[in-house]
Amino acid sequence: YGVVGIFHDITDLKKVEQVRIDFVGNASHELRTPLTSIKGYVETLKEDVKTGHMDQAGKFLDIVSRNIDRLMDLVNDLLSLSTLESHPELRMEMIHPLQISEHIVSEMAVLAAEKNIAIRVIGEVPPFMADAGKVEQVLRNLVSNAIKFIPAGKTVQIRWESDGPKAVLLKVIDNGQGIPEEHLDRLFERFYRIDKGRTRDAGGTGLGLAIVKHIMQSHGGSVAVKSKLEQGSEFICTFPIK
Ligand code: ADP
Repeated sequence: YGVVGIFHDITDLKKVEQVRIDFVGNASHELRTPLTSIKGYVETLKEDVKTGHMDQAGKFLDIVSRNIDRLMDLVNDLLSLSTLESHPELRMEMIHPLQISEHIVSEMAVLAAEKNIAIRVIGEVPPFMADAGKVEQVLRNLVSNAIKFIPAGKTVQIRWESDGPKAVLLKVIDNGQGIPEEHLDRLFERFYRIDKGRTRDAGGTGLGLAIVKHIMQSHGGSVAVKSKLEQGSEFICTFPIK
């Protein structure tokens, strides 16, 4: 039994190490892609300045600017994850779920309006103890994903429910195209994306759901996803009430 026990530990250790190696590899690759593009366009612009051919300059600078935005999103998400790991302690306070939801809705209003997406806040739950800033981040990531990935004109619902006396549920529900079943298990892994090209264009870093999972676990809770093709997706966060 002892030997089996040790064996388990070593396999676990190897898994953790492999996850770390993969993470560094993925992060470097994700950072290099926009950097390579920026380098290329800046070199071209330098040549154009020399030869006086500036007709494409505006277009190239737009591309450079978009890639810098991508880099900033990536670095911000990487920093968020790293801070969650190095400072896992929570700042617990009484939070008012509807107030926090409305705050996020107004933050997302411009993004949602651009795609003609309506965001509704539904449900009634009493205030409960949680880290307000982190609950906001969970909402921000889930709602911005919904806005990013569902077709224009669809709807996002933020729904709060009590699940007995011991838990509060936060559901972010959309009526978009849904997520194919074979991806659901891996969705919360760092850098996991369904369609790398398309979701990268949509402005995703692939870290949003990993951050959500981390925050929910640090609250002693969890996050799950249900989805039906052509009908939509539902992300369910469970907060334990102490
Ligand atoms: P990203 O930064 O790309 O949004 P996430 O970790 O937040 O990364 O999400 C992982 C992937 O899950 C996304 O790339 C997208 O393909 C898919 N996804 C997340 N939310 C939704 C949603 N509401 N509808 C459809 N697909 C989604």
